[in-house]
Amino acid sequence: MTARVLVVDDVPANVRLLEARLSAEYFDVATAYSGAEALAQCERAECDIVLLDVMMPDMDGFEVCRQLKANPATHHIPVVMVTALDQPSDRVRGLEAGADDFLTKPVTDVALVSRVRSLARLKMVTDELRMRALTSREIGIQAPERDAVAETGRNGRILVVDDRQSSYERIVATLETEHKVDVQADPNEGLFHAAEGSYDLIIVSLGLSNFDGLRLCSQLRSLERTRNVPILAIAEADNNARLVRGLEIGVNDYLIRPIDKNEMLARVRTQIKKKRYTERLRDNVQMSIEMAITDALTGLFNRRYMETHLSSLVDQAAARGKPITVLIVDIDFFKAINDGHGHDAGDDVLREFALRIRKSIRNIDLACRYGGEEFVIVMPETDMTVAGMVAERLRRRIATEPFIIQQGAGALEVTISIGIAALGQPGDNAASILKRADQALYRAKRDGRNRVVQDAA
Ligand code: GH3
Ligand code: MG
Ligand code: MG
Repeated sequence: MTARVLVVDDVPANVRLLEARLSAEYFDVATAYSGAEALAQCERAECDIVLLDVMMPDMDGFEVCRQLKANPATHHIPVVMVTALDQPSDRVRGLEAGADDFLTKPVTDVALVSRVRSLARLKMVTDELRMRALTSREIGIQAPERDAVAETGRNGRILVVDDRQSSYERIVATLETEHKVDVQADPNEGLFHAAEGSYDLIIVSLGLSNFDGLRLCSQLRSLERTRNVPILAIAEADNNARLVRGLEIGVNDYLIRPIDKNEMLARVRTQIKKKRYTERLRDNVQMSIEMAITDALTGLFNRRYMETHLSSLVDQAAARGKPITVLIVDIDFFKAINDGHGHDAGDDVLREFALRIRKSIRNIDLACRYGGEEFVIVMPETDMTVAGMVAERLRRRIATEPFIIQQGAGALEVTISIGIAALGQPGDNAASILKRADQALYRAKRDGRNRVVQDAA
């Protein structure tokens, strides 16, 4: 996918210049000639990256950037300030407005293209997560936009890999004012440490004496444990080629020596903010996946998941000539528990019951809450005889150990009835097996409850 870059500048000639260079690299380019126009385009989600001129009449670039970053709808769009100003204090002003990077006019092609490429790549990952997270908002999970806008990027855990004492001492002294910082002088130890610790940022000196810092960056990118931790490289002046290489490898940002303290603090905060936002997105997606397949009260799988999954398990077993058995378990006179001790006590019983089911089955068995006080256990590669033994053990485990519940009632006697059916009838499928298990359960109830009945077929 081609990234769409929005070029914002009040001077048409500047716009045309950047447009030509970016188009030559196959970026898709949009243009705006004022801050207000830029904000409107971003709000309509029409771009992936913004190249923003600083000096503009009416609203300057700093203000545009601040507004983009304060708006939940646009805060995730990377902003690169394009400026003739080149004092660290100007950069810090931009970073504090939320800018992701700077390009100094006149803009060199190498810097332009490598920056835009690397930001575009990162944005694509975030976009994918963001899209899923927004979907999960529809099923009631709070998307992390609000937190992201309020995030300060402080109190991070940072690992510094640098072997020059005078250098790392200064870095640590500065960063320690708002973060927790560890130092590793040995890059191999650094890699090990990074994989062990849960860092929010890793700072790597590219000027290590006996080791290629870029190599370390690439190792950090390839390890599962550190793949998503941002890397800030520290480069010597006049080593552009290495920086470009670094960005290609996946370095997120860089500082050039001599390091400006405020610039370092600002860049570190930006990286930590982004990392936390992405992390929240990931958690959010994970949570929506779990919510979609689990029952909230018991933590077991829900009915929809079980029905889908049971179909494939049955097909698989049928194709391979393996047994598979289904248990339907129903709590006896559960209504009386609710009536006698309250609905909350009933819920406690359901939770404790789910726990006992979990303890009674194997990893490959599938336990789910099928309805109110009805549960289904699917046992792959298990025939009727073994399933009967498992069911009997579960029945006994419930009937002989009273349920101790939170809601004041003390110990409750609970019993269950179980119906079992196995794959084996001609034309069998998930639905037909479930139906026979249900019929067996019905007989267990009719014959006096607290018992296991196997489908005779
Ligand atoms: P039987 O032995 O025939 O199964 O009798 P029973 O009382 O267990 O069966 P019945 O189907 O008559 O009642 C089931 C009750 O389960 C009725 C319903 O209010 C209750 N129930 C369903 N879902 C929940 C729940 O999530 N929490 C609680 N506390 N009760 C629930
Ligand atoms: Mg201007
Ligand atoms: Mg019941």
